[in-house]
Amino acid sequence: MNLPPLPLQNGSLFIDNSLWVESIDSCWRLLQYRALFRRIPAGESMALSFGGCGHACLEHRYRKYQNAIVPDEYYQEISEIITKQYEAHPCPIEDWRTSNWLMQVLKNYNQRYELEDFELLKAKETVSDGQGKVIFKEGDVLVEMPFVIPLYVHETLGEASIPVFYIGKIDLVVKQDNMLFVMDHKFISQLGQSFFLRAKMLSQLKGYVWAFSMLTGKLVDGYIINAIRSKEPPLYIQGKSDSRSAKQDPAKWWGESFAREKFYCTPNMLDEWKNNVIDKMEMFFWNYARGRFPMATAGLSCVAWGRCPFYDVCSLDLDDRPAMLSSGMFTTNEWSPLNKE
Ligand code: SF4
Repeated sequence: MNLPPLPLQNGSLFIDNSLWVESIDSCWRLLQYRALFRRIPAGESMALSFGGCGHACLEHRYRKYQNAIVPDEYYQEISEIITKQYEAHPCPIEDWRTSNWLMQVLKNYNQRYELEDFELLKAKETVSDGQGKVIFKEGDVLVEMPFVIPLYVHETLGEASIPVFYIGKIDLVVKQDNMLFVMDHKFISQLGQSFFLRAKMLSQLKGYVWAFSMLTGKLVDGYIINAIRSKEPPLYIQGKSDSRSAKQDPAKWWGESFAREKFYCTPNMLDEWKNNVIDKMEMFFWNYARGRFPMATAGLSCVAWGRCPFYDVCSLDLDDRPAMLSSGMFTTNEWSPLNKE
């Protein structure tokens, strides 16, 4: 398959975590399909839609009510956000991720974190995107904060240099015990030690800590993962009869549904993060220049977190793959962390 031109804008390349860095870490071929061909599975998964809508509701909480207790109006307000999302992306009848269930998760989340023990950072001045669009007004809390930071300049002998920018959106910036942290909400199916072991190594959050430090010149002490379990509730939680109900404790189940963990970052770690991403981008340019990207052949990335969305492409003969990629099973990815939605 011939590679398309690089997706440059005004001669620069803008890379984010989910499309670029995570794809490079998983499989070069995945990066080729997602970032260069811009193909993604046609049907948005209900897991993504549920998490995205949950994110929007948390954004509303922290933007409007900050670290205070939310009043009853909050639930009227987010019911509009949820209704809009579910109208645009209806929940299949057999799926448990319903709008009612999302509301229940958020009510329990707000009970658990009724009064936050952190302060939210506020913009000290009005910030615009350079094209007249105001991103933050002075005094706005730094919620869902978009950023574009120069990462490095790729040089190839005899060709125009390519500035590479790192882009993304930070969920929340908080101050706790006089230290500064970037907070990220994660809706995930399983909480536990292995999730947080992985979170400690995540490139994304180190990148966001680096980005906020670069933007503000402030020393950021680390990041907090705000994990929200998003898994099919047992019958006794759904209020349906269950022979084991007597032995089950809904308070315990909900208690295990939310967890936060804090990770500290040193300047060395951030330098290492930056060098790592630059090294990977140089490998990207090298692969791109020779016209092909290797596939993950151990098969682990293909099934590690469920079936890779491109499994049915990669398992075909090389000649049959373009037709599969252009079929209705896939659509063009218009998403960017810098888009409003
Ligand atoms: S199916 Fe495997 S080889 Fe193909 S893109 Fe996915 S992870 Fe890579």
